[in-house]
Amino acid sequence: MDTKYIFVTGGVVSSLGKGIISSSLANLLKARGYRVTIQKFDPYINIDPGTLNPYEHGECYVTVDGHEADLDLGHYERFTDIQTTRANNVTTGRIYQSVIDKERRGDYLGKTVQIVPHITDEIKRNVKMLGNTGKFDFVITEIGGTVGDIESLPFIESVRQLRWELGDDCVCLHLTYVPYIRAAKELKTKPTQHSVKQLQEVGIQPDILVLRTEKVIPPDMLHKIARFCNVAPEAVIQSVDAPSIYEVPVMMHAQHLDELVLRKAGIEPQGEPHMEPWLDFLSKMKSAEDVVTIGLVGKYVELQDAYKSINEALFQAATYNGRRLDLRYIHSERLTDANADELLSPLDGVIVAPGFGQRGIEGKFVALRWCREHDVPTFGICLGMQCMVIEFARNVLGLHEANSTEMNPSTPHPVIDLMEGQKTICNMGGTMRLGAYDCALREGSAASRAYGGATHVSERHRHRFEFNSDYRSRFEEAGMKCVGENPASSLVEVVEIPGKRWYIGTQYHPEYSSTVLSPNPIFLSFLRAAIAYRDEKHES
Ligand code: GLN
Repeated sequence: MDTKYIFVTGGVVSSLGKGIISSSLANLLKARGYRVTIQKFDPYINIDPGTLNPYEHGECYVTVDGHEADLDLGHYERFTDIQTTRANNVTTGRIYQSVIDKERRGDYLGKTVQIVPHITDEIKRNVKMLGNTGKFDFVITEIGGTVGDIESLPFIESVRQLRWELGDDCVCLHLTYVPYIRAAKELKTKPTQHSVKQLQEVGIQPDILVLRTEKVIPPDMLHKIARFCNVAPEAVIQSVDAPSIYEVPVMMHAQHLDELVLRKAGIEPQGEPHMEPWLDFLSKMKSAEDVVTIGLVGKYVELQDAYKSINEALFQAATYNGRRLDLRYIHSERLTDANADELLSPLDGVIVAPGFGQRGIEGKFVALRWCREHDVPTFGICLGMQCMVIEFARNVLGLHEANSTEMNPSTPHPVIDLMEGQKTICNMGGTMRLGAYDCALREGSAASRAYGGATHVSERHRHRFEFNSDYRSRFEEAGMKCVGENPASSLVEVVEIPGKRWYIGTQYHPEYSSTVLSPNPIFLSFLRAAIAYRDEKHES
């Protein structure tokens, strides 16, 4: 069959969850046996979100091939178990960069280079890139931003052209918002009507509307929206706020979203999607009553999306261990020796978060010392692992001024130092050690046990600094073992303190590869340790 293209646009406001709807649709199509991929087109001018601060754009996700990507790609992977790559996330910046490079090479043969057709052609080329590999039955393309924004216009125009070119092989789904006005006790359809009108003005008639709402929309109101928006009544479906994002595929299937899309694409749906494993996860999630309390120590705790993949990996691991996750954010800037007891003693396990720069770093050392001395299950990720090393150097090796050269370039004990290959780099964008690398784990180590005895794993990275191997033997002798290393470069990837309940730091980010149907083993193991510790505390 020809590759079918599904476009997902959003209207009225941002943050409606286009990523979740796209992921849910991909989940359903995959559960019907189709080969699916999802890609995100972002209208901003940054080449990728790697240089964006989490306050701007939440977490930066990393693909196996080392692309710094929008956090929606994390949803795509968690919902579908497909691996995304650099081709799955394109920004206006990337489009312009490529057009300008072509112009400089002379590829346009003296033509005036314009938004239409050159930018739109480049967008279309990128939209079809994955589809042209022949590997996919469906390519779902999420257009970032909100319809009506100036910056998303070239993307919307490209969708219009593609729709014209592709005919039945193209489906347009528009996600809008139906607000509930509390004072009037009414749901309002006008913003949706206006948003669809805006799409129609640029030549796109949506095939399917998904309405985000806090309250259930009654059938007559759905019908009214269908009539005024020129959409078939059965193609107006609602997405009511759900207790968990992982319920959305089921909610969408209950309203036949998958069948609608198939029919619009000219395919008669056969049977039902194979959703048993997903439903199994949901039933585990709903039946989990006992709690496990995990603290996440970081400096972006007020931002819901800054640690998205870690939150989800923890949630998945807690669910598979039969527990409800009680995740507490501990602001690293506010954690001191004076309040450590109060803030940390209720926790069954502590994660020290990734990050960059000095701010909040001292609180991470406080947490790590407290956890090490009280033998609380502790997991350091990336900067969190580097902080484990620094804290150990300061308080166990007695190197009081030990630091990372990221925080203090003139520290006498650079136990964490810039990687050799990073020393000559001037450009910040896309130049870290990025993507999946192999890691050899020492046989019998806690880290290897966490991975079910595996001695080789592959996980994704995003960092410039590394464990300084000059100090390796001193750490080993004093009890912090370097149990994971990259086979090619010998970079230390994992440290642990054996004999502790669970005290492991990974230079890599295992959270990026944790999905609903395939949770990351090291998170599962960390949660098991936290649960055992909780049970132990309760018994005594
Ligand atoms: N800032 C550290 C580095 O660049 C850690 C990065 C991270 O936590 N992702 O090495």
